[in-house]
Amino acid sequence: MSLYEYLETIFDTLHRIPEIAFNENKTANVISTELIKNGFGVKKNFAGTTVLGTKKGLRKGPHLVFRADMDALSFQVNGEIIFSHACGHDANSTMVLAVSKLLTDKNINAGKLSLLFQPAEETLEGALLVLSSGALKDVDELIGIHLRPSEEAKLGEATPSLIHSAAAKIFVKIQGKETHAARPHKGLNTIELAIQTINSLSSIHFDSSIPHSIKVTDFHGGHGAYNTIPFESSFVLDIRSQTNDLIKKIEKTVRLVVPGIIKTLGGKTSIETFQTAPAAFYSKETFDITSKAILSVLGKVIPSINTPGSEDFHFYSTKGGINTAYIGLGANLKPGLHKLNMYFDHQVLEYGAIIMEKLVDLLL
Ligand SMILES: [Zn+2]
Ligand SMILES: [Zn+2]
Repeated sequence: MSLYEYLETIFDTLHRIPEIAFNENKTANVISTELIKNGFGVKKNFAGTTVLGTKKGLRKGPHLVFRADMDALSFQVNGEIIFSHACGHDANSTMVLAVSKLLTDKNINAGKLSLLFQPAEETLEGALLVLSSGALKDVDELIGIHLRPSEEAKLGEATPSLIHSAAAKIFVKIQGKETHAARPHKGLNTIELAIQTINSLSSIHFDSSIPHSIKVTDFHGGHGAYNTIPFESSFVLDIRSQTNDLIKKIEKTVRLVVPGIIKTLGGKTSIETFQTAPAAFYSKETFDITSKAILSVLGKVIPSINTPGSEDFHFYSTKGGINTAYIGLGANLKPGLHKLNMYFDHQVLEYGAIIMEKLVDLLL
């Protein structure tokens, strides 16, 4: 079976069994069976549905990991819920799995190669679980791979770094004083307080050279008594920034300003922050060597791609302290990621697998 045929077979199998976050059981079974066939040791049923395939080198050396995500997305079509691999995680898993096939009859010179199949990327939960399992304790380098939409890269183009944004959510609860709507002066209307607070956020300015945003993504006020000034209102802010430093600054400012405004207006606040995902943070050495591998396979390397979305991949570097790079692969992918009718040129599967094979040569 040629590499292309192998890739098509695996892709086709995974494509037919899309499973959402933490339900990737059939996917994990297909992957682990294949890893064993290809001579890799397998650790599974940990950190959700994580699968980790490992092959040792002839001598001691560094531990290199390639990471793929396994989860699909859920869509509502004509009132029915369906799952689909609209983010291409079936392709990412196929390429990483194919590295084991390419190495079946080959020795790894030094160190150790692991192939990590992570669950729950879409919910941004998988990477933290994998890290807390301790399975990546001795890892020196971890490289991710993901298809890109055609406006970011065309087939035959690849970058060693995807610049994802940091994201966080801030939950604000405001308490005022309930009263009859006919006597507003006797109460404190928390909807009015929330609106004033939200409006004043637009006059706080941060470094405009770094892309960032603050938006209200949820609002609750009142409890259905339309003739009553509501005692409690709440809203959620989704904040994003291209750097981890700026998102910390935005978070700190919001936590200071919001209770300040509400207190001035006579209300009380409780405020909670959750980090959703950190911004991209790469190692220069891993970036350089990944560039070299891309160049040798595709004959060119495209610059880092700025992408507005977030990825839990960056917990591996920011929380795990692991050197990382993230291959973004052009695939003539249309009409876009997370679109139910997404399609791409399958030639990319071969490019991705061979770039990673080259990285094994360069790093181990
Ligand atoms: Zn996605
Ligand atoms: Zn994805």
